Amino acid sequence: METEFDFEDRILSNEYEPSEDSQEVSLRPKTLDEYVGQDKAKDNLKIYIESAKMRATALDHVLLYGPPGLGKTTLANVIANEMGKPIRITSGPAIEKIGDLVAILTNMEAGDILFIDEIHRLSRQVEEVLYPAMEDYAVDIIIGKGPSARSIRLDLKPFTLIGATTRAGQMTTPLRDRFGVLLKLEIYTPDELATIVRRSANLLGIEVTEEGTYQIATRSRGTPRIANRLLKRIRDFALVKGDGVITGEIARMGLKMLDIDELGLDATDRRMMESIIKYYGGGPVGLETIAATTGEEAVTIEDVYEPYLMQIGFLSRTPRGRCVTKLAYEHLGIPYRGNGGQTSFFDPEDK
Ligand code: ADP
Repeated sequence: METEFDFEDRILSNEYEPSEDSQEVSLRPKTLDEYVGQDKAKDNLKIYIESAKMRATALDHVLLYGPPGLGKTTLANVIANEMGKPIRITSGPAIEKIGDLVAILTNMEAGDILFIDEIHRLSRQVEEVLYPAMEDYAVDIIIGKGPSARSIRLDLKPFTLIGATTRAGQMTTPLRDRFGVLLKLEIYTPDELATIVRRSANLLGIEVTEEGTYQIATRSRGTPRIANRLLKRIRDFALVKGDGVITGEIARMGLKMLDIDELGLDATDRRMMESIIKYYGGGPVGLETIAATTGEEAVTIEDVYEPYLMQIGFLSRTPRGRCVTKLAYEHLGIPYRGNGGQTSFFDPEDK
């Protein structure tokens, strides 16, 4: 259980935590106009949604991909709302058996939306049920066993599948190809995040100044989920240490206590980059090695830490592995002597 000020490494996690669900639901935008940023994806969606409505058919299947916390689940709900159709929400690992998926599919009405989060984690057998379901609105089921077994085809009502994944590259080609609409969600700009912070503060009844808003927006790693989480944590700080208003100063003090620097990097980011520098001369070094050295899981590093570090130019990916860039050395205050050798910073004899 998370205590109030147990920030440590967790605060910047953009992983979804069920405990925050009840609070977060009210923060989720319901319409495309309320949904901040992602203009390209939204412009496309508006056209597809309008067209589907004009033709009175189900919306084509949509695949949303991008790092966690960027708003894939939120967007799926927005799409359902804009289509005026109910949404069923499940996830790749939750659908264990073929029967589970068949039961869901056969219960869908025309135009209903099925949202499968982490769709890349579906088992192969379950995934194969989706192929005819997506393409022909039908499922083939086997009745009986042995020589008397026969396959029958069940027709489905035309539905819309919305898949979400943090790793489109891990999806099989047959599954990916069956989505008519592929939308990549991008990391948000500070201005977009500021809009989200203002909106959430308004909904939660938190007073925050422009400077406070930007302190939070610029340190949220381009991720709405983190912006909302920081806003709540700094609110606690403002209540206890101030008069409840999030000013620039309160935000700066709160973020300092959370060990989040002015670029939004936390202790884990810094530890990861420092250990690449310390043990591997800044790289190149393989992902698994970084994982072993830092004690973080490789997938977490790839999904949660790397996208932002690469976005701000602190980490680069080469065929031989990851490298820490000169820019990152400067930020960490470590002298840069080129990658591939040991740096004097950690070597007292070389001072
Ligand atoms: P994902 O499914 O990509 O992991 P979510 O859809 O759960 O991310 O988004 C996390 C939180 O961030 C949501 O609860 C919502 O409050 C907020 N959020 C995400 N995208 C937006 C957006 N475009 N505008 C406003 N708030 C957003």
